[in-house]
Amino acid sequence: MEQLLSPRHMQDRHQHRIDHVAAIRQRIQSHTAQPLSVEEEHDLLHMREEEKIARDVYLQLAERWALRPFLNISGAEQAHMDAIAALLSHYDLPDPAHDLPVGAFRSPDFQTLHDQLVARGLRSELDAIQVGLLIEELDIFDLVAARGRARQPEILAVYDDLERGSRNHLRAFYRHLQQRRGEYVPQYMSLGDFEAVAWSEHEEC
Ligand code: ZN
Ligand code: ZN
Repeated sequence: MEQLLSPRHMQDRHQHRIDHVAAIRQRIQSHTAQPLSVEEEHDLLHMREEEKIARDVYLQLAERWALRPFLNISGAEQAHMDAIAALLSHYDLPDPAHDLPVGAFRSPDFQTLHDQLVARGLRSELDAIQVGLLIEELDIFDLVAARGRARQPEILAVYDDLERGSRNHLRAFYRHLQQRRGEYVPQYMSLGDFEAVAWSEHEEC
């Protein structure tokens, strides 16, 4: 039964994500696009590439390590990319990830970060989990900053949604870290903020 239940569970999750992104798109389209500030524009372009880093790194680590979070979470990161893409098209902004395959980035800084994270994550399972934690805390850190600069309600709603997802991802990686008695020192979030997320309950979306 296990073999039968598992793919169905994956299928349910997949359907849930499709519905979720459709709902986000609908919410975005219900607003009239107002002119964005330079910061709002910059943040949207930045977050689109950052969500692609998450998806691409997890996809590659999922091929190397049989750890469930990598495959599950790469699907969630695809939904995060789609949500930002919906905002980009709503505001008529160019998509920095347009036509780029997994592992390729237009901005050299993102390319370097991606390459370093994949190289590190391939070293060992524990390294891969630490890479997951690093990506999630970077994501939360940047989303909080971007939300502080955002004015448009549909942008704020997407950032809140992505941040909730990232907190759940961080918790999932942290559980795996604990199971292996690994250590992790946050690089972007304060230790207090990191632990507050890591030790709190999974949030429903
Ligand atoms: Zn994400
Ligand atoms: Zn994530």
